[in-house]
Amino acid sequence: MKKIGVLTSGGDAPGMNAAIRAVVRTALKEGLEVVGIERGYTGLVYDEVRPMNRHSVSNIIQRGGTILKTSRCDEFKTPKGREDAWKVVEQNEIEGLVTIGGDGTFHGAHFFYEEFGLPVIGIPGTIDNDLYGTDYTIGFDTAVNIALDAIDKIRDTADSHERMFIVEVMGRHTGFIALDVGIAGGAEEILIPEIKTDISALADRIYNERKAGKSSTLIICAEGEEEGNAFAIAHKIKRISGMAFKVVVLGHIQRGGAPTYRDRLLAGKLGSEAVFALQNGQKDVMVGESGDKIVFTDLQETWTKSKTVDQKLVNLSLLLA
Ligand code: ADP
Repeated sequence: MKKIGVLTSGGDAPGMNAAIRAVVRTALKEGLEVVGIERGYTGLVYDEVRPMNRHSVSNIIQRGGTILKTSRCDEFKTPKGREDAWKVVEQNEIEGLVTIGGDGTFHGAHFFYEEFGLPVIGIPGTIDNDLYGTDYTIGFDTAVNIALDAIDKIRDTADSHERMFIVEVMGRHTGFIALDVGIAGGAEEILIPEIKTDISALADRIYNERKAGKSSTLIICAEGEEEGNAFAIAHKIKRISGMAFKVVVLGHIQRGGAPTYRDRLLAGKLGSEAVFALQNGQKDVMVGESGDKIVFTDLQETWTKSKTVDQKLVNLSLLLA
């Protein structure tokens, strides 16, 4: 193998830059040429490919976002789009590809491998942490810390005014962020898609706690919560109990900012292991970390199998609330 490509695709996550850096620096040290493909699969379809050297990745380890940009590329979901992308791969003599993203990105990578045989290694980069095959995804730790910082601030004002807040954090299908942030932020209630919420019982609990003297109440809710978004839940509680909640939706700030040390370290490990994996003839797999070990999972398994929230953490959240 002489030349590899690297791209970031789908939702951006803090630490993607650290992963790009690790891929580029490892590849160069191993005597490989590296090209960066811009805007995810869009750059592969439209030949937006640039050579990378040591300096292309200088001074980016601490930056959020991705210097290669990212996009959603509908063309790549079609056989014709992937054929165009394959021509670009051939023209640029790319012999292996590292894709950094979430399960959508891995779908594309897997089909591309199946159709054209290009060895592809996936690196899990998404704040949601919802990928089977790794304990943590790159970006999750940063997102949790950003949300935690915001919640601490909201708690100050909630306490001073003796108010009740519902804070919505990211997590379209899973409650990983909500659960960790809720426990670490001392939330009174944590609402996640994995666990059915009984709004009447919740309203009763909060009402009784307020009567018993609790001065502030913080509910953390994942955006994919089955009962609806934070506004819908606030509305339902008000209808049942008359209690009014302030709603804060943290939104995209959870995706920005400098990656934490944990995300940088994970990105460094997975980035360099992805290059070694290509050199060792691995293909169609995601590189992840489980315990202290580097593990490889078939790309297809990253979405056919699901990672569930840790029941012990759910129990802990109930115990400490
Ligand atoms: P994420 O990787 O964060 O889950 P997306 O779901 O938006 O983000 O996927 C990123 C990109 O991966 C899509 O824009 C598309 O180019 C490609 N992709 C997603 N699903 C498929 C699919 N079923 N077939 C081919 N490519 C796909």
